[in-house]
Amino acid sequence: MDPTEQPSFWLRAYGPYVPAAHLQGETSVDVAIIGGGYTGLSTAYNLRSDSPALTVAVLEASVVGFGASGRNGGFNMTLFGLEPAVTKALFGQQRTVEAHRYMERAVDYVRDLVTRHNLQSDYEHPGFLRVATTPGFVRRIQHDLEILTQMGISGLEWWDAGRLQSAVRSPLALGAWWEPRCGLLNPAKQARELKRLAIEAGVDVFEHTPVLSIERGPRFTLRTPSGTLSAGHVVFATNAYSHLFPELRARETAAFTHMVVTEPLTPAQQEAVGWAGRQGIEDARNFVHYLRLTADQRIAIGGSDVSLTFGRGMQHDLNPRVFADLERDLVRLFPSLRGIRFADRWGGPVSVPVDMAPAIGFLGDRRAIYSLGCVGHGVSMAHLNGRTIADLILERQTDLTRVWFVGRRMIQWPPEPIRFAAAHAIRGYMRAEDWAYERKLPQAE
Ligand SMILES: Cc1cc2nc3c(=O)[nH]c(=O)nc-3n(C[C@H](O)[C@H](O)[C@H](O)COP(=O)(O)OP(=O)(O)OC[C@H]3O[C@@H](n4cnc5c(N)ncnc54)[C@H](O)[C@@H]3O)c2cc1C
Repeated sequence: MDPTEQPSFWLRAYGPYVPAAHLQGETSVDVAIIGGGYTGLSTAYNLRSDSPALTVAVLEASVVGFGASGRNGGFNMTLFGLEPAVTKALFGQQRTVEAHRYMERAVDYVRDLVTRHNLQSDYEHPGFLRVATTPGFVRRIQHDLEILTQMGISGLEWWDAGRLQSAVRSPLALGAWWEPRCGLLNPAKQARELKRLAIEAGVDVFEHTPVLSIERGPRFTLRTPSGTLSAGHVVFATNAYSHLFPELRARETAAFTHMVVTEPLTPAQQEAVGWAGRQGIEDARNFVHYLRLTADQRIAIGGSDVSLTFGRGMQHDLNPRVFADLERDLVRLFPSLRGIRFADRWGGPVSVPVDMAPAIGFLGDRRAIYSLGCVGHGVSMAHLNGRTIADLILERQTDLTRVWFVGRRMIQWPPEPIRFAAAHAIRGYMRAEDWAYERKLPQAE
């Protein structure tokens, strides 16, 4: 396989992979799905499972999991958008609760799917720690916890420094919100297993099939380099790539988040960091650090800052400054890992609407549906969104299709270069806030 199609450690470590054929000639389906990530594959699988008479095709520009779905941290988690306080400030209490309930359901949905179909994606369910690394972050996390608790959301509890440090041996671990409802998976394996599931359900998956243009008439005509597909419905399951389609240009922009992964920890290093519970960990920055153990005892850590995109540019996988920061920050968190070697580094796109919240919506009429705006928290959501989009196409009124971010109004991003300047300004503000929270952290040597 072309190495440029393995843009993450997870994809590179996967082993030999045989992509499906690309689309050739002229053909026709009931539903065409653009994008072979979790959203597209889950939509396709759900449609065919519920309605075997439907013909469904997934068209993926590269290979399944090439986008964020094959590159992410693998946290199957309940966080919606940026954080609860932001969602509440922008959308109000009722919608924050509704979003949280949707995300709880999404996490359970992924866990059940993996179990029911025995998906081989190294799934484990160790729970989640949102760790405060400064006194300011202690207050921020406790405030978020208070907001959620006052709204009647349960299943989250505060761990003080003593309790936390018996689980994770870091001098920066001052307290955490503990949430048992969180799993970890190998993202590339999950994407490939979803492809298997979709194909077994009767979906046609075409890889190396970029959709170049879409014409709308009584039916849609999707043009690709070697073939044309006529379809009754179109799903844009393209998340952070959505702005590349003229119809969706103003609804989101892409920012790249980056990750590094260590060599497997030695038994002495494992002993030094503790972390026997293997919880997924995030801190409370705006540009969070997220870190986890892999099945073979490496630490994968991501976040810290993002790379912004301009116009149609999507070549931001590699950012040496962010990689260096992540490697420094891991050692800050676990000084016992000083000198640890890093095995791989990569990045991937997350979808950012102006108001930092996801959306499922319609284009023109209800025959064209899009899903975007994960803001970096989309593993669980993308899977459940597939279920929701299938319900929409099957014209079912369900509690999923009634959720407020289906068909919501979106604030539009301005055109370039104002968009880039606006994204820079937002990033600058968020970084300044992180700096203010962290200025008393021990400095790197
Ligand atoms: C580094 C990183 C870490 C992350 N960590 C986490 C995490 O730990 N937990 C979490 O909840 N979320 C995380 N996320 C976010 C999460 O990965 C995404 O929200 C989720 O994978 C989105 O899935 P998707 O199917 O909607 O989009 P994608 O997986 O991005 O799929 C879109 C697909 O569309 C294809 N495509 C684009 N244009 C075309 C075209 N013209 N024709 C055909 N195909 C096209 C792309 O090639 C791509 O494969 C992370 C994201 C990144 C980048």
